[in-house]
Amino acid sequence: MSAGTESSIADRIERLQAGGIIDMHFDLPMDLYEKRERRNVLETEFLPEFQAGNISVAGAAIYIEDRYLPQNGLRVALDQIARLYAETAASERFAICKSYREVQAAREMGKIGFVITMEGVEPLGTDLNQLRVFYELGVRSIGLTHARTNAAGHGGVFAVSGSSTEGLTAFGREVVQECETLGVIIDLAHINPAGFEEILSITTKPPIVSHTNVRRYYDIERNISDEQIKMIGERRGVIGANSILVSPRKEESTLDRYVDHIEHLANLSSIDSIGIGFDFFEFIYRQWPESRQKELAAKFAEPHFIPDLRNHSHARNLTGKLIERGFSDADIEKILRGNWLRIFEEVL
Ligand SMILES: [Zn+2]
Repeated sequence: MSAGTESSIADRIERLQAGGIIDMHFDLPMDLYEKRERRNVLETEFLPEFQAGNISVAGAAIYIEDRYLPQNGLRVALDQIARLYAETAASERFAICKSYREVQAAREMGKIGFVITMEGVEPLGTDLNQLRVFYELGVRSIGLTHARTNAAGHGGVFAVSGSSTEGLTAFGREVVQECETLGVIIDLAHINPAGFEEILSITTKPPIVSHTNVRRYYDIERNISDEQIKMIGERRGVIGANSILVSPRKEESTLDRYVDHIEHLANLSSIDSIGIGFDFFEFIYRQWPESRQKELAAKFAEPHFIPDLRNHSHARNLTGKLIERGFSDADIEKILRGNWLRIFEEVL
């Protein structure tokens, strides 16, 4: 592209943003659930940031906190979905999308689409029939576990080693097979290394890792190793770069380091394997009392929020940084939305 046709970096950012950003991991339903006595939370608390960052699709993740388990996992999951539907119905600006066609329709109408995802299958208990129910409710991507062990498998630990060496349980394998049959994307974020390999061995569709960071820069088993990155690339899967575990050190938790993660993924697989899974979490973290923040740090890791990538309104800072770091427009479009769209088209 000649310099004469490109008036400024700002114009280039604007043009790249205009097609919309897809973020495949956002803990929205749990926040809507905690605010279930309020109305229009989506429009008042989230829409301004979505609009400022040109967010066009977000993976809305059902996640059940320990305090609701085991008794209330199913009920809280259903309530999270209910709040997402109610809030979405109350606004012209949002849509819940269950297929590639619905994602594209939402984008064409300028709506922000939600793909409902599940982070940990605790809501299913050990009942595969529940998976069918959640599918009918719109769940289109499932990660078997968070960090904890459940009926399907084991999560990767927030340490260099120590995850369970066991793969999936029989129930976990059934869930994976049923997801492939129904057309639910299988998300390898959080699963332990043995489970990761086992899922790849029993599936054929492109897998995703909705939100993770590379172990090269943050070496914990919750993150993705070089070997695993190559495996996802070979299967034409997509890995979403996470914004809250870019470095164990606060001073290294920068937008440049975030792009280092993206470059590392590209070097080991290809530009076709990279997407966004921001996992913006600060808005929830800040609502917690200090005791709970400390509990999180002790159990997992202290999150280091990137100063200029802390919420969806900051998405254009990333686009600007990708330009500064020399990515082509075609590559940036793949990272911001194109690769996730390909997965939706192939699986949903
Ligand atoms: Zn997560």
